[in-house]
Amino acid sequence: MRLILLGPPGAGKGTQSERIVERFGIPQLSTGEMLRAAVAAGTPVGLQAKEIMARGGLVPDEVVVGIVGDRIAEEDARGGFILDGFPRTVAQAEALDHMLAQRGIKLDAVVELKVDEDALLARIANRAREAQARGETVRKDDNPEAFKIRLDAYRKQTAPLSDYYRARNMLQVTDGMAPMEEVSSSISEILSAKVASVAI
Ligand code: AMP
Repeated sequence: MRLILLGPPGAGKGTQSERIVERFGIPQLSTGEMLRAAVAAGTPVGLQAKEIMARGGLVPDEVVVGIVGDRIAEEDARGGFILDGFPRTVAQAEALDHMLAQRGIKLDAVVELKVDEDALLARIANRAREAQARGETVRKDDNPEAFKIRLDAYRKQTAPLSDYYRARNMLQVTDGMAPMEEVSSSISEILSAKVASVAI
């Protein structure tokens, strides 16, 4: 099972990915997490991404495509994966198509979490508060200024991916505003319908 979870920042892609990891036993490939790890480790990619991420912008396509290409070649991603936060631009989606075609593999599903954008700011503030309460470091981009830029990047650069995958008959949309358990069940149903015809 190879799938993409689409949706704006704060839509719950990370949480839902974790559920899918448990249910289907495939790894979650989050470009945001990979980039945050690169920033923390001070690698060349991290140095390039640090400021862009802190202000809420998008890291250049070639950088992100490079890290995803390396990651999907790893052993644990052979049987499938969930892409969380990638692709974020049409150029990334095209690069992904190309990478997968080169490996002779295909995507099985693209699931979009549809959310009310007004509710997202509250979710992000909540996420920052919860992280703080757990004693974790709050993400540098979980603040209202960076969040507005992230949402703007989503509208301009990532939202067109819905049409990209709809035109390829791959897009499935689910209500991301429903309670977390309902969203999980709805995604599970979509994926279970695919599983019958897919080797996971
Ligand atoms: P996320 O954890 O998915 O919200 O990503 C956090 C930040 O990492 C984003 O705001 C971007 O700065 C960067 N990022 C993550 N994925 C991508 C991507 N596919 N393309 C460009 N930038 C990305």
